[in-house]
Amino acid sequence: MTEDAADPFAGVDVDAVRDALVEWYEAGHRDFPWRQTDDPYEILVSEVMSQQTQLGRVVDAWHAFLDRWPTAAALADADRADVVGFWTGHSLGYNNRAKYLHEAARQVTEEYDGEFPDSPAELAELMGVGPYTANAVASFAFDNGDAVVDTNVKRVLHRAFAVPDDDDAFERAARDLMPAGESRVWNNAIMELGGVACEKTPSCDAAGCPWRQYCHAYETGDFTAPDVPTQPAFEGSRRQMRGRVVNALKDRDALALDDLGPKIRVDYVPDGEYGREWLRGLLDDLADDGLVAVDDGSDETVARLRR
Ligand code: SF4
Repeated sequence: MTEDAADPFAGVDVDAVRDALVEWYEAGHRDFPWRQTDDPYEILVSEVMSQQTQLGRVVDAWHAFLDRWPTAAALADADRADVVGFWTGHSLGYNNRAKYLHEAARQVTEEYDGEFPDSPAELAELMGVGPYTANAVASFAFDNGDAVVDTNVKRVLHRAFAVPDDDDAFERAARDLMPAGESRVWNNAIMELGGVACEKTPSCDAAGCPWRQYCHAYETGDFTAPDVPTQPAFEGSRRQMRGRVVNALKDRDALALDDLGPKIRVDYVPDGEYGREWLRGLLDDLADDGLVAVDDGSDETVARLRR
């Protein structure tokens, strides 16, 4: 394999890709309260709670937990039975996580003088803190983490940049893509992309995915991924494209092909692969189904919805 063939970012403007994602994230991310803090204890609690519970439900439990035990020292002083009781009372999953969290608070208090360590390797020494959680705390509390590579991130990298389904390839690609020293915003942003746009069934347009113009899957219509072995039913299919045409024409009298095209695909170019000819094919299908009328006027071809 040549160097370039191994590099999923060959020919990609990586800075533009990074900027687009961070801007998208900062403009509209979900506002979880643990994203407002850089306190490692508060972040550790949110990470441990999130491992088994939907994020929306974690919010109340997280506030209540921190009201009761606001610092690692306070938690270290607590009775284990109370911590476990809290866990059970809030349906937070395996009680072992409560025990580990309690133990980790004791370690920080007794072995680290109350100061959390700031590197993924040291954080992973804490009880019950695996590599993923250690990296999350290092990133979100200290801006000192590595690129996160979880299922969501793999799915995004595979679709957007055709990174092969191979752990080393994912690690490398995730590391190369993360802007140096910006693990806090970056890991949040790429996980958000996987969580609200590039889900198993992706919502590229509805979520305004900032990577549409770079995305291999968006271009090819193949939205399979390591955790999505068969093509999701709607996104990327011809049916989806037809849906976009109908949507674009819905509130308008008529649109010329070159005005309509970019609303269907961001990479529409009149004479390109996804250009007039391709669009005309879609419109003819819709016309056959009685949904759309196409008028070949003397100046230009326009399409409108049949009403
Ligand atoms: S364009 Fe769609 S498939 Fe590609 S990264 Fe965005 S949401 Fe995922």
